[in-house]
Amino acid sequence: MTTGKINVSVENIFPLIKKFLYSDHEIFLRELVSNATDATLKLKHLTNIGEAAVEYGNPVISVEVDKEAKQLRIIDQGLGMTGEEVEKYINQVAFSGAEEFLEKYKDSAKDSGIIGHFGLGFYSAFMVAEKVEIITKSYKDEPAVHWVCDGSPEFTLEPSDKTTRGTEIILHIAEDSTEFLEEYRIRELLTKYNKFMPVPIKFGTKTQTLPKPEDAGDDYVAETVEVDNIINNPTPAWTKQPADLTDEDYKAFYHELYPTQFEEPLFNIHLNVDYPFNLTGILYFPKLSGDLQVQKDKIQLYQNQVFVTDNVEGIVPEFLTMLRGVIDSPDIPLNVSRSYLQADGAVKKISNYITRKVADKLKSLFSENREDFEAKWNDIKIVLEYGMLSEPKFYEKAGAFVLYPTVDGKYFTLDELKENLAATQTDKNGKLVLLYASNKDTQHGYIAEATEKGYEVLLLDSPIVSHLIQKLEADNDNLTFARVDAENIDKLIDKDEAQLSKLSDEEKDTLKGQIEAIVPKQTYTVQLEAMDSNSAPFRITQPEFMRRMKEMSQSGGGGMFGMGNFPDMYNLVVNTNSPLAGSILTTDDATQREALVKQALDLAKLSQNLLKGEELTAFVKRSFELIK
Ligand code: ADP
Ligand code: MG
Repeated sequence: MTTGKINVSVENIFPLIKKFLYSDHEIFLRELVSNATDATLKLKHLTNIGEAAVEYGNPVISVEVDKEAKQLRIIDQGLGMTGEEVEKYINQVAFSGAEEFLEKYKDSAKDSGIIGHFGLGFYSAFMVAEKVEIITKSYKDEPAVHWVCDGSPEFTLEPSDKTTRGTEIILHIAEDSTEFLEEYRIRELLTKYNKFMPVPIKFGTKTQTLPKPEDAGDDYVAETVEVDNIINNPTPAWTKQPADLTDEDYKAFYHELYPTQFEEPLFNIHLNVDYPFNLTGILYFPKLSGDLQVQKDKIQLYQNQVFVTDNVEGIVPEFLTMLRGVIDSPDIPLNVSRSYLQADGAVKKISNYITRKVADKLKSLFSENREDFEAKWNDIKIVLEYGMLSEPKFYEKAGAFVLYPTVDGKYFTLDELKENLAATQTDKNGKLVLLYASNKDTQHGYIAEATEKGYEVLLLDSPIVSHLIQKLEADNDNLTFARVDAENIDKLIDKDEAQLSKLSDEEKDTLKGQIEAIVPKQTYTVQLEAMDSNSAPFRITQPEFMRRMKEMSQSGGGGMFGMGNFPDMYNLVVNTNSPLAGSILTTDDATQREALVKQALDLAKLSQNLLKGEELTAFVKRSFELIK
């Protein structure tokens, strides 16, 4: 038997590992299962290139909990280690065997999917174990060895009678870590980190019903057998070629990833690059509910099929963090701070690639099946609109597929709108005026009036739409947006025959004075306009600019313009050609006139959804009086 002392720097590293290196002690299992996987894949590679003259077979990694003996065991059938290799690979901390292996077989090992780069992998076992044993037999014709270490730099190494190839790691779980002797806890960890690892992982057994034989009679009793319980899927969809996968396969994988999601994803994007970095994955557009509640099913990041994290901030552009799916890349630096990630050039490239790929996919979905794309628009628009605002690279491409729906269910791209409406919806300066509504119900009256006049009204109801409109106007000189209730549409859009007022200038002055004396000045600016006599006599509008600023100051971009709360300010547009205008003017009785103006104002407020509480009660009461 050999005893020895692991080199001195380790003395400082042990407590470091335990305390600072990993905030999550649970990752020790991921590390050990990764090592077992590496050892298995290395053997596969060696047999493939003819360097190991052994039968590869169908190796399995076994995880066993022995609560009584307070042991957790991880057993593999990989390449194993000789005594010399244990001294070298295990005892020399921070010496990565995987790295050396990669170096040695650099070219041929490229595609064998070796996991590594996890840092101090093996030693993380001491975060939860007071003593660790390794019993290992190399694929080379050499005796097995038994290594024992209690976490201090002293270790023993002696021969072992193990006859089968591979490595068994025995953890003697420490007093403070007995949770890792619980079966449910280990199952939870294996499911979290190892669900898609490339070598089958066995955890316990399960009973399986045998298929009913064809010649079975009516009195057949189902037979069951005990079989290995394999907890992982070694060949998840993202490791396959898109050509080999059907729509159903993609959907099935979605549910495998998120077992608690019942809704089908809208569509998926298969990512696959190998230059200038390696990245595979599948992203799904889920059906998002209107309010963007905190999401628990997030995009998962893997490194060679080992789960790393579901915090992909920095790697995936922010607007796509609302998506679901997996990204697998050996090129994403792990165990580094987020701020470093964001500054890292390689990571930026990955993020840009994902943005581009998503834009390309959306474009092809749009051109391949526009009808289907339109049907899904409502569910994806928030992601896309957010992307246009936050990612210049996405914005550049978005014009090709971002849609603007109308209140009556048609969908146009911005270019189509420009082309279709150039002749009918321009203002005096020749600018295209895009009328829009944000709510079909509350703005119903205004919408009806605009569509009756033959205008196209868009329905833009996302919470961030005012920001988007602002950006579109800034980038398109000849474009302006106006909500249907923003201004008198006829005044806005160039009309040849301007309506003539039936009232004289003097009468207008009187009317204006009469109304101003009754409506609150700080809220309403009275404007007289000559409109069609059938148009609403009183109409409340809110200037587009004012409303938009208010909305933008409320939805994010807080304090963007250095302003706090905007007061509510409206225009009260009075149609001088309406019969009511005439009545007000000719009513001599001040009380009666006041009643008329108040009732008309309340009706205008009602149609703009502004009449509430006490005012509404008073209005209803007054209205009953009138019809009594
Ligand atoms: P890394 O996996 O990054 O190389 P580890 O500390 O996890 O670092 O492992 C150190 C080395 O120990 C490995 O590179 C490998 O050579 C060896 N090793 C660990 N576990 C096993 C195992 N189950 N079978 C064979 N070799 C192993
Ligand atoms: Mg490792």
